[in-house]
Amino acid sequence: MKELMHGKVKTLYNTDDATTVLIKYEDKVTAFDGKMVDYPKDKGATCCLISALLFEKLTNSGIKTHYLDLPSLNTMLCKKLTVIPVEVICRNMAAGSIVKNTEGLREGMPLQPPIIEFFLKNDSKGDPLLTEDRVRLMGVDPKPLKDQALLINDQLQVLFNVCGIVLVDFKLEFGYDHHGDLFLADELSPDSMRLWGRDNERYDKDLFRKDEGDIVEAYKVILQKLRQFA
Ligand code: C5P
Repeated sequence: MKELMHGKVKTLYNTDDATTVLIKYEDKVTAFDGKMVDYPKDKGATCCLISALLFEKLTNSGIKTHYLDLPSLNTMLCKKLTVIPVEVICRNMAAGSIVKNTEGLREGMPLQPPIIEFFLKNDSKGDPLLTEDRVRLMGVDPKPLKDQALLINDQLQVLFNVCGIVLVDFKLEFGYDHHGDLFLADELSPDSMRLWGRDNERYDKDLFRKDEGDIVEAYKVILQKLRQFA
């Protein structure tokens, strides 16, 4: 199999079919632009299984995603897309960079209606916050990205709510297929979302960022709850 791209925690492989790719989730976690790294066992498969489950749920509710199949525990078969270099962040509560980079927001403060933000997906430029006008100048219409992100938020909130988990925020990436149709890409795992318990327990990558606990153990709790309740 020919390696197409080596991401920070995922590797992309070509398949014999020019319209699909294989995405392997590695036993690796990084934070702060790769300055913090660890290689926890089972992390890849756990994130892959959570992503697959959430992509399947979204597909069943009419959202177009790149997910096609799960050929092994840590690898998914996906539609090949041209990924838009914009990270779409949806926030239901204040946490992370929005608290750090604004005034008067406390962590945990509800953001109602939810906030959608756009960041440039470019590590060498430090992933800066974009305006909608800047997204447009990049040749990308921000409206369908925002609409999709809000629809996805509605679906994910319902799923996590039945699990007793609060969906604080999450990051999405989108891409176009060869017809120019928009699909949800990348992954949907606790690596790219903040998930809090009702008593403020953390089940996401902040555990690693702040060195506050075992992420694989926490991610496995999320997978088990989704399998049981969602
Ligand atoms: O850091 P910030 O508070 O902006 O992150 C918002 C959400 O997006 C968090 O759930 C974080 O894990 C996710 N995120 C991500 N990849 C990035 C930036 C943020 O998955 N490059």
